[in-house]
Formats: sequence, C-alpha cells, structure tokens
Amino acid sequence: KRRDPHETEFHQTVSVIFKSIKPALVKNPAYIEHQILEQIVEPEKLITFRVPWVDDQGKTQVNRGYRVQFNSAIGPYKGGLRFHPTVNTSIVKFLGFQQIFKNALTGQPIGGGKGGSDFDPKGKSDMEIMRFCQSFMTELANYIGPNTDVPAGDIGVGSKEIGYMFGQYKKIRGNFEAGVLTGKGLNYGGSLARKEATGYGLIYFVSEMLKGKKEKIKGKRVVVSGSGNVSIYAMEKAIELGAKVVACSDSDGYVYDEKNGIDLDTVKRLKEVEKGRISDYIDAHPTAVYKENCKDIWNIPCDIALPCATQNELDEKAAAALVRNGTAYVAEGANMPCTPEAIHIFLKNDVYYGPGKAANAGGVAVSSLEMGQNSSRMAWSFEEVETRLQEIMRDIYKNCEQAAKMYEKEGNLVVGANIAGFIKVADAMIELGVV
Ligand code: NDP
Repeated sequence: KRRDPHETEFHQTVSVIFKSIKPALVKNPAYIEHQILEQIVEPEKLITFRVPWVDDQGKTQVNRGYRVQFNSAIGPYKGGLRFHPTVNTSIVKFLGFQQIFKNALTGQPIGGGKGGSDFDPKGKSDMEIMRFCQSFMTELANYIGPNTDVPAGDIGVGSKEIGYMFGQYKKIRGNFEAGVLTGKGLNYGGSLARKEATGYGLIYFVSEMLKGKKEKIKGKRVVVSGSGNVSIYAMEKAIELGAKVVACSDSDGYVYDEKNGIDLDTVKRLKEVEKGRISDYIDAHPTAVYKENCKDIWNIPCDIALPCATQNELDEKAAAALVRNGTAYVAEGANMPCTPEAIHIFLKNDVYYGPGKAANAGGVAVSSLEMGQNSSRMAWSFEEVETRLQEIMRDIYKNCEQAAKMYEKEGNLVVGANIAGFIKVADAMIELGVV
C-alpha cells in the first residue's frame, strides 16, 4: 500500500488472499522463511505502452496498453486482455494476481498474467477496432510468445479482436505460432468449446457444490448477472441441466421473467448478433419485466446467484437481499464480483459460496488445452474438450474442498481455493530459488 496507494482493487484482492492463506503460513513456516509473500506480490514485469491509432474521421487517437507478467513459476504467463475504459494498473494487477492462483488450481502448467487497454470498443466501427488491435499488438508482440506469455480474451475482447491481434502478430513474426494467443477462431487454431468454457465450467462447479449438499441443479431458480460471454454460456448449461434462469442483465438494467424463465435464443440474438441492449428483450417477451439499475437484480428471489458481469457488482446490500430471499448458493462467473463485505455475509449465513478463482477457471483451463492442441497440431472434438473441462472442474472443487477441510472450516471454499493455489506456486518458487 505504501508503494502504490492508489491501486485499490489490487490491495483489495491481495488483502483477501493473504488473510485467507494464514493457516497455510502457520503450518508451513518455509513460506515465511523464503519471503514468498514479499516476492509473490510484486509482478515479475509490468509493461505499459502507447497505443496510437487512426479513427474513421482520420484523427489520431491515443490509448494506453498494459501487460502484467505476474508469475511464471509453474509455466508461461497466461491471462486475458481486457478492453474497457476502466482499465488501469490497479485493475490489471488485481486480475493478474488472482490469475496466478486460478491457473495453479486448474492443474495445468500455466503462470499468471493479465493485460488490456482503456480503449472502449463500444460504438467503434469494425475498421477502428481492427486498427486499434493492430497497433496494440505491434507493441505487445515484443513481450509475448507460446513459451513466454500467452494472452487471451476478457471483457471487450472476443474472437474478432483475437483474430485481428493474431493476424498482426503473424505478420510481424513472419511465421505461424498458433500457441501465442488463445480464444482463436476455429479456422486458425482455436479450440472447440473455448467460447463456452467459462460459463459451462461455472455450472459444472456449481453442480459439484450442490452434490456436496446432496442436491441437484434441476428445478433450481437461477439469477445470472451480465449477458456477455460468461453469462450466456452459464445460462445455456444451467438450462440444459434443468434449471430455470429467471433474470439476467447488462450494465444498464436487468430483465426478469419468473413465470417463463429467460429465453436464451433472444438474449443471444440481442447480445451476440445485434450487439444491442437487454432492455429490448421485453419487445419479444411481453411477460418479462425490464428495470433500470443493474445492481437491483440481486433482489430477485432465487436459489442460485451467479454474478458473471464485473468486479464489485455484488455488495453488502445485495448480499443481504439474497440471504433474506433464501438464496443457498452463490458462485462467481466474473472476477471478484462480490465485495469482501458481501463474502463475509455469505460465510456468516451459511450461503455456500464459490469464489471466482475456482468457479470461473474453466475458461483458462480450456485455453491451456488449446495451447496443447496447437503444440501437437491436433484438434480435439467438442465432446473431448468438454469431458476434460468437466473433469478439471470436478478436480478443482475437490482440491478446494479438501484444502478447506485441512486448513480451516469445512465448506469455506475461499480459504480452500486460495490455499490450494498458493501452495502449488509457493512450493515451485522455493524450488526455483531466488530469481
Ligand atoms: P463480456 O464483455 O462478454 O460481458 C460482460 C457483460 O457484463 C456484458 O453483458 C456487460 O453489459 C455486463 N456488465 C458490465 N458491467 C455490468 C454491471 N455493473 N452490471 C451488470 N452487467 C454488467 O465479458 P465476459 O463475459 O468475458 O467477462 C465477464 C467477467 O468474467 C469478467 O469479470 C471477466 O474477467 C470474467 N472472466 C471471463 C472469462 C472468459 O473466458 N470470458 C474467464 C474468467 C473470468 P454491457 O453490454 O452493458 O457492457
């Protein structure tokens, strides 16, 4: 805090993680002796750069690009790129720090990184997005590679942006290194089921949580915030497994239909095809209700709440409303969507809470499978990838649950996820020496 007092999101995540790993530090004094905390909290490298590009009016625009290469003790840096006006050093550091432990939890050999830009893709033409992505990659290409650092998508970066960035990387390098980016299109080295992986993985994780309580997802009422990549595929898998999704949202407001449930085809058309607003949902479904103020979505009664939009979207007030309405499960599709106060309320009231680090790790796990397919020049079927994803999510849950049991209180998956991820990385750091 003394070094970078303005990095509030980063301090928030470090403080939550360090607090929860205390039992592991007490049991294993080697981590203190080797000053692992002092080392792990400092990124191996933090890169910021100018991204100049020309808009459709011929005017030069300048954005800032970021890449934090946080920890490579167990594999090349791996983590998404976010294009959103709120991106700054604090945001990429908080996301990169969490990514270290999340990636370790997947059991795959990948280190932690994250990046992005304060560029806002909303309202930009296709050509503007392409010019921006090319300029961004022209600089980023100096720092990444299949064995060094492998970026992927995140908010504002989907397969279109990944395509433009991969095209530019290929041109600069003069060869085809498919494994430098993940989330690629299927025509040039992408993996089947990557698009679905985070959302599907979240539901597989929730199914494990339910199994732990001898329950099933079938027939449960689910509220999902957001209507982007993670939300859409979480809704898809939840509906496929027999749950009823009663509400979803975007940054303007939320839509709910307790009687009929949310129609996913309409959400996909509005958000994936037309790039429109969730408020238009009611035109096709008169029984649904639209309300402004996306944060109020947590007042809708449900059994399972899945925050899948953005950081700090579910606060103390929202958590209290969920508890009042009898919500029994909360699992994070987004990164750090619940504030520390909200998490405290869940734990105190025996709401079974799945932290994002574990619950949303399906995306990066399948990204790692994409890297594997690229290096072996193989392409797996959708079923093969999905089966691996399901196994990975089952293992993540099991590891978190066991670590919770061993170090703290049974059922505290926050402690379980942080400790299981931390131990793997910290042990590797000790083995590698002070480097
Ligand atoms: P997208 O850009 O595809 O979607 C984000 C969605 O959230 C949009 O519908 C957006 O609405 C909505 N949104 C933004 N702010 C709010 C808000 N305050 N309240 C309600 N809705 C809001 O991003 P992703 O789905 O890829 O990512 C979502 C979250 O999941 C992020 O935290 C990301 O880091 C995390 N994540 C993503 C992974 C992935 O594989 N994509 C992997 C692991 C984590 P609008 O259209 O109005 O902007």
